[in-house]
Amino acid sequence: SGIRRFSTATVIEELITPPVQVTYTQNLINGHFVDAASGKTFPTYDPRTGEVIAHIAEGDAEDVNRAVAAARKAFDEGPWPKMTPYERSRILLRFADLVEKHSEELAALETWDNGKPHEQAAKSELPMLVRLFHYYAGWADKIHGLTVPADGHYHVQTLHEPIGVAGQIIPWNFPLLMFAWKVGPALACGNTIVLKTAEQTPLTALYVAKLFLEAGLPPGVLNIISGFGPTAGAALASHMDVDKIAFTGSTETGKIVQELAARSNLKSVTLELGGKSPFIIFDDADIDKAVELAHFALFFNQGQCCCAGSRTYVHEHIYDEFVEKAKARAVRRSVGDPFKKGIEQGPQFIRVSLSLDTLKQNSKEFLQIDSEQFQKVLRYIKSGIESNATLECGGDRIGNRGYFVQPTVFSNVQDDMLIAQDEIFGPVQSILKFKDINDVIRRANATRYGLAAGVFTGSVETANTMMRALRAGTVWINCFDVFDAAIPFGGYKMSGIGREKGIYSLNNYLQVKAVVSPLKNPAWL
Ligand code: NAD
Repeated sequence: SGIRRFSTATVIEELITPPVQVTYTQNLINGHFVDAASGKTFPTYDPRTGEVIAHIAEGDAEDVNRAVAAARKAFDEGPWPKMTPYERSRILLRFADLVEKHSEELAALETWDNGKPHEQAAKSELPMLVRLFHYYAGWADKIHGLTVPADGHYHVQTLHEPIGVAGQIIPWNFPLLMFAWKVGPALACGNTIVLKTAEQTPLTALYVAKLFLEAGLPPGVLNIISGFGPTAGAALASHMDVDKIAFTGSTETGKIVQELAARSNLKSVTLELGGKSPFIIFDDADIDKAVELAHFALFFNQGQCCCAGSRTYVHEHIYDEFVEKAKARAVRRSVGDPFKKGIEQGPQFIRVSLSLDTLKQNSKEFLQIDSEQFQKVLRYIKSGIESNATLECGGDRIGNRGYFVQPTVFSNVQDDMLIAQDEIFGPVQSILKFKDINDVIRRANATRYGLAAGVFTGSVETANTMMRALRAGTVWINCFDVFDAAIPFGGYKMSGIGREKGIYSLNNYLQVKAVVSPLKNPAWL
């Protein structure tokens, strides 16, 4: 391949048996776990080995129809939207307690299905999941409208009401957190839900859905469909009885989802899409801290973050020293079995692909593990080398089993190289040099994306200028990837529409109704 090896890691040691069993594999519709209407199943794989973990009921349009009918009934007739907000809040709190109680199984399941380090899932993502549901439980009884000073002849108020049936489509990189970002606000506002998980990672959503039933969520309020995008996902986005669609995934699929929504019933759409976020390091920064933070900003979660700091801009005065240290840090990164203690990086995820031809043939044999995403990362590395960026370390896969990639660092990256423009979604750091603040503002913003940005500086003035100048939904100053439940998240430009988390996420799941009634005696005002 012409790719040289630099990192020492070339093999993956013995693998640990996941300390958990798979219990739920069917779709959840109207409070019951059921097989797919077609009877079909699809495998979900362990990205450490490519071996099948379990066979999952494969939902498609018919299952989506059944789930939407259940959610519709639960919204129109069921107790959920009519319950007191306090009762809804109590159910969300009970659910959060159950998640806490089952954190160990959930973290293990998440690692097994996704490949992320178990310590990350257990110590960071599970507590965050609990926190998100506490946060939204807190909102359930604080949603209210306004009294509007109209022209004096009318009493005018607004009611903030749930939209109805929410369709939600989530990706595989943070299966549980993406579940929470979507389900939390929708339920707090009194909606009912049909959620489609990513075909690569169906396991944990089914598990937590069971916990929701245990917490007392009425049947039909939350329905979970496992299945593929062009079948189940498209059926949800184009369903006439779905009032709102919320999607997280790639920009290309986001466009399809918006089009499907528009062509069907003009349901409202929120989109959380891709990014190519800059992380900008000024020469007044503490260089060791900057190296560590830039490393984290890119390599966290195997580089599979929508907001990864994937363009590391470094001031020319400190560039050479930074590159040396960034390389040393990447070489030290521990890659291996994500179940092992101290492992920072597990395998890349596996895409399971189902082509449209396959759908027509309606046959399981066409279902294949497709290492396309993994190959894509390796192709981007090759393209970096071919475009004359300097490969400082990494550059190849590790071992010949599973989907492990060496932590890779490129220096001398130019803005027009593919590795500086496209979302690689892998452990590949691109380091670019800049001259001054105006140069870097212009270049950082010269992208079709606008999800996030990071700035590392010792100067308040620089920080103040940068936070205003950067065209991105989040700007992290002297930190990165800080995700509290209360902090809104979303994209400028082609990184999305709308905001999730925080108070802003409630708007996605509420309708505003103006209620106008005449005052009997306007003069009395
Ligand atoms: P993807 O768009 O291929 O898939 C995401 C989801 O969409 C999956 O559930 C998939 O089944 C579904 N889908 C695919 N085709 C569909 C169709 N035609 N109709 C309806 N649904 C369809 O994305 P991916 O590659 O799995 O995920 C990675 C992408 O997600 C990256 O671009 C990343 O930046 C983005 N992402 C964004 C955020 C954010 O908050 N902005 C968070 C995580 C991931």
